[in-house]
Amino acid sequence: PRRVTRNSPGSKVRVVVRVRPFLPLEFSPLAGKRHSCIEVCKDKDGVGEDTLYIKDVKIGRRESYKLDSCYGENDDIDRIFSMELEPLLPMLFSGCNATVFAYGATGSGKTHTMQGLEEEPGLMPLALMSIFSLSKTTKSTVEVSYYEVYMDRCYDLLEPKAGEVSVLEDSNGCTQLRGLTQVKVQSIEEFHDIFAKGCANRKIGQTGLNDASSRSHGVLRVTVTTGPADSENSQVGKLNLIDLAGNEDNRRTGNEGVRLAESSRINQSLFALSNVINALNANEVRVPYRDSKLTRILQDSLGGTSSALMIACLNPGSYQEGIQTLSLAARSK
Ligand code: ADP
Ligand code: MG
Repeated sequence: PRRVTRNSPGSKVRVVVRVRPFLPLEFSPLAGKRHSCIEVCKDKDGVGEDTLYIKDVKIGRRESYKLDSCYGENDDIDRIFSMELEPLLPMLFSGCNATVFAYGATGSGKTHTMQGLEEEPGLMPLALMSIFSLSKTTKSTVEVSYYEVYMDRCYDLLEPKAGEVSVLEDSNGCTQLRGLTQVKVQSIEEFHDIFAKGCANRKIGQTGLNDASSRSHGVLRVTVTTGPADSENSQVGKLNLIDLAGNEDNRRTGNEGVRLAESSRINQSLFALSNVINALNANEVRVPYRDSKLTRILQDSLGGTSSALMIACLNPGSYQEGIQTLSLAARSK
């Protein structure tokens, strides 16, 4: 039977879009500048929803979607951080949880958004920097774990030899990852060292889309403990920063065998995630957390008093991929 869990009402999942620029390789010397298939109409007051139009010029089709906010190529990561993520951080210091997802097809900019580059840090390092500065005034401790969910199994990226991490439920119905490494970090330099090691351990597969793409969901979990250690008065807040696996269309990737099996699992877990987000946004009493490993693990950080943000990443040159990503992200409105 399909088991579902009761959710305390109130917390919705914010859904925003980030459209990446065309890459230098995507310009052909003959064709010249390419036209984006995406157009955004910002809400004129800046507080309501933005409208996104996506069009296929060849077949003359245009679809529109409403989103909480849309970011284009002129919006850098610092802007997305300060508008979307920074406001969620103070609540970690009063014992609330938060979750941020990057969702989209392979090559749409998920890893760029979450992880970033050394010269252009993504949301993961930016969040840590900000958390460190907040933790100084509150005398909190900061710990990180980094794991991936691959084929519905959980692996520790900071201790790759440890094998699969078991997902258990405690007597309060909370999910625990047994034996997952949790490292105390005190500075951004310390974090960078640990994070770089974890990133190097992520599972990478080659798909027909000629791109080394991540086939797993990568979860960076930051735990903030405020107040006297191990006392009843200390408060623990968790932030999950997630680089989801690419939502591939198997008909286009030509996936077979292991790749196809991986891809079906990925699509199943992304579908389960979208169902959870839909249920939360529709204020439904029953939320189907149990339908995938990822949603089970995130149960205490999605809904209830937690805040959640979904960043749907889009490639400006792909109508088909865009439709696929938006239909799932915008379904959650
Ligand atoms: P994904 O993780 O979704 O597969 P990536 O983050 O690896 O996609 O992005 C694909 C390529 O596009 C990378 O070369 C990346 O550096 C580039 N890219 C993605 N987003 C941006 C952006 N906002 N600005 C500049 N380059 C970007
Ligand atoms: Mg990636």
